[in-house]
Amino acid sequence: TPSATRKIVLVTGASGGIGEATARHLAAEGHHVVLGARRTDRLDALVTELTEAGHRAESAQLDVTDRASVEAFVSGALERHGRVDVLVNNAGIMPLSFMEELRVDEWDQMIDVNLRGVLYGIAAVLPTMGERRSGHIINVASTGGHRVDPTGVVYCATKFAVRAVSDGLRQETPDIRVTVVSPGLTKTELTHSGGNAAQQDAVRSALDAVGIDSSAIARAIGYAIAQPDDVNVNEVVVQGTAQL
Ligand code: NDP
Repeated sequence: TPSATRKIVLVTGASGGIGEATARHLAAEGHHVVLGARRTDRLDALVTELTEAGHRAESAQLDVTDRASVEAFVSGALERHGRVDVLVNNAGIMPLSFMEELRVDEWDQMIDVNLRGVLYGIAAVLPTMGERRSGHIINVASTGGHRVDPTGVVYCATKFAVRAVSDGLRQETPDIRVTVVSPGLTKTELTHSGGNAAQQDAVRSALDAVGIDSSAIARAIGYAIAQPDDVNVNEVVVQGTAQL
């Protein structure tokens, strides 16, 4: 990849699932990926694998619910590379449950990771992207950001909000590209923690039936990045052919 087209791409939640697949895809496309998540052992293994394959990758510990952590993630990349071309706000959690179960701590966690985390990411890159009058923010929402389902009420609320924030930000920042990527059921570890066990199991069965590989979402992210600077991909919705 000629250095003119190689971008510095930050990916949150890159220790597994869609974030990891995105890291692999973008690194293979020749970009320099900066990977963040809480589980640094997984990030280290991925960076080792990518660099041994001749790609450019580095990682840093990141908790998107901690504003200082998000700022340090971005400022570290800025110090090392002088710019951040793309931020992929991908980190997310989905503990499903009925409202009446009152799993209020899990509601808070979803708001903290899925919404506040995205806002902290935006806040961390806007000054530098605004100054350079260039940049690209990609927010991972969901088909659950288009349609609410029982047990996914708060999850869907965070994803509706991510789409609203993205659409508003896009209109306010004519120099900065803003893209939403909304996956349908995708085979990852998203159902592995929290929530109502029976509901998480039900989604796992649906995932086995119609879920797609996380590489499909990675390619959609790569497509948005690959467009010329004056072309904004507003939203890409990607789901399994057999998903309703
Ligand atoms: P995974 O559970 O496989 O991956 C989630 C990633 O988010 C992990 O790398 C995890 O890393 C990271 N993460 C969670 N909490 C934090 C935190 N506080 N700070 C930093 N990173 C965090 O799920 P997916 O890959 O499926 O999820 C990625 C995104 O895709 C999410 O936004 C999800 O809502 C969305 N999505 C997924 C769908 C699916 O069917 N899989 C469908 C629609 C949308 P660590 O634990 O190491 O911090």
